[in-house]
Amino acid sequence: MYLLPGFIDMHGHIGGVAQGADWEYVFKLWLAHGITTVREPSGRGIEYTLDLKKKSKKNEIIAPRIFAYTGFGQGSKNPITTADQAREWVRQNAKKGADGIKFFGAPPEIMEAALDENKKLDLGSACHHAQLNVARWNVLHSARAGLTSMEHWYGLPEALFEDRTVQDYPLHYNYQNEQHRFEEAGKLWQQAAAPYSDHWNAVMDELIALDFTLDPTFNIYEASRDLHRARRAEWHEEYTLPSLWKFYQPSKISHGSYWHYWGTEQEVAWKENFRLWMTFINEYKNRGGRVTTGSDSGFIFQLYGFAYIREMELLREAGFHPLEIIRAATLNGAEALGADDKIGSVQIGKRADFVIVEENPLENLKVLYGTGAIKLNEDNEVVRVGGVKYTIRDGVVYDAKQLLKEVKEMVQKAKDEEQFTLTQPGQLKK
Ligand SMILES: [Zn+2]
Repeated sequence: MYLLPGFIDMHGHIGGVAQGADWEYVFKLWLAHGITTVREPSGRGIEYTLDLKKKSKKNEIIAPRIFAYTGFGQGSKNPITTADQAREWVRQNAKKGADGIKFFGAPPEIMEAALDENKKLDLGSACHHAQLNVARWNVLHSARAGLTSMEHWYGLPEALFEDRTVQDYPLHYNYQNEQHRFEEAGKLWQQAAAPYSDHWNAVMDELIALDFTLDPTFNIYEASRDLHRARRAEWHEEYTLPSLWKFYQPSKISHGSYWHYWGTEQEVAWKENFRLWMTFINEYKNRGGRVTTGSDSGFIFQLYGFAYIREMELLREAGFHPLEIIRAATLNGAEALGADDKIGSVQIGKRADFVIVEENPLENLKVLYGTGAIKLNEDNEVVRVGGVKYTIRDGVVYDAKQLLKEVKEMVQKAKDEEQFTLTQPGQLKK
C-alpha cells in the first residue's frame, strides 16, 4: 500500500443550510477522501464551527481537524464602517477562539485596519476579493497589508492590469445577476498583463517576497469551462443529496447556479481564462511561492471530497509534478495554517494523520476518488481500483469505504423520503 500525509482542504465549507448538507454528511465525504484537516472559511457562524472543532478535537464525532476562519464582520450587530470598529471586531474574533478571518473585501481603510490588528494577534487570514471592492483594493494591497492567503483568483488579474484600472464591464452589468458576474469573470485574465511580461513578473515576485499563499480552488470553476462534465460526474447519482442537487440547478437565487443560458461562448472564454490562470499558479510554485489545495465544495456541482481530488488533477493540468501536488495538499497547507510543526508530513513528533491507498496515486490521481479508477484487468474485465482505504486522523483509523457506504445510505434515505429521482436540468421529472 501507499502512505501519504493527511490531506488539508484549505477551503472547506461545513455544508450549508441552503444546500441541506449537514456536517455529518460532509465530514464523512471529506474523511473518505483522505482529508484530515479543513480550514473552514466563513460558515454558519463562529460558534457553530468552534463547537464542531471542539468535538472533533475530543474525538466525540467523526470529523477532520478544523481551523475556523470567521467571515469578517460576522456576528456584528451593525455593519463595520470605521477602522476602529474593524479593529474591535478583530480583537473580539480572536477572543472567541477563531483561528483567523475570511474577508470578502471592504473599503481600503477597513481592510488596512482589520489586517493590521489581525497581524498583531498573529492569526491567519484569507480573502475572496469580491468584485464589489476590488477596484480600490486588490490582492497586492492585501498582501502588503498583511493578508496571509488569498482564495480563488479574483483580485489577482486586477493587480496585473496595465492598460486599465477596472475590468471591462459591459455597461448594463449587474453583479447580483450571476450569469453576468461569472460570464464577465471568464474574460478577466485576458485583460491582465501577459504571462512573463515585466508587470506580471513584478507582481508575482512581490507576492512571493511577502510569503503570500495562493489557494486557487480551480475545481469550483470547472463547470464554467465544461458544465456537462461537472453535472454528469458519476458520483452524483449515489452520493449527492437531493437537496444539494436541487441547489445546483440553474437559479436566480442559489449562489453559483449561474446557468441561465450558459453556452459554447462562455465555456470557450473560460478555457482561455483557466490557461492564463494556471500559467500564473504553476510559475508561482516554480519560483518558490506557496500554493495550497482547496475545494470550496457544495456549489457549482462540486461534491465534498470528490472535488478535492479533482483539484489535485487540475494542479496536475496546471503543470505540477504529482509530488508537488502532494506537497501542495499537505505541507503547504500546514505551513499556511501555521501548523507545520504538528501536521503536513510523515515525521516523528507530528500528529498521526495519514492516507492509505492500495494503488500508486502519483501514477494516477484518480485512484483517490471514492468511486475509484477504471482499469481493464488481465482477464479483459473492467474493474475499479483504488479509493482511499484508510484515513487516519490523530491516530484514529477510519475505514474510508465504510464511510462512503454510510453516506450512500444517507442519500438513499433522503431520496426515499421524497421519492426523488435525479434528473438533468430542464428534463421532466418522472
Ligand atoms: Zn467558499
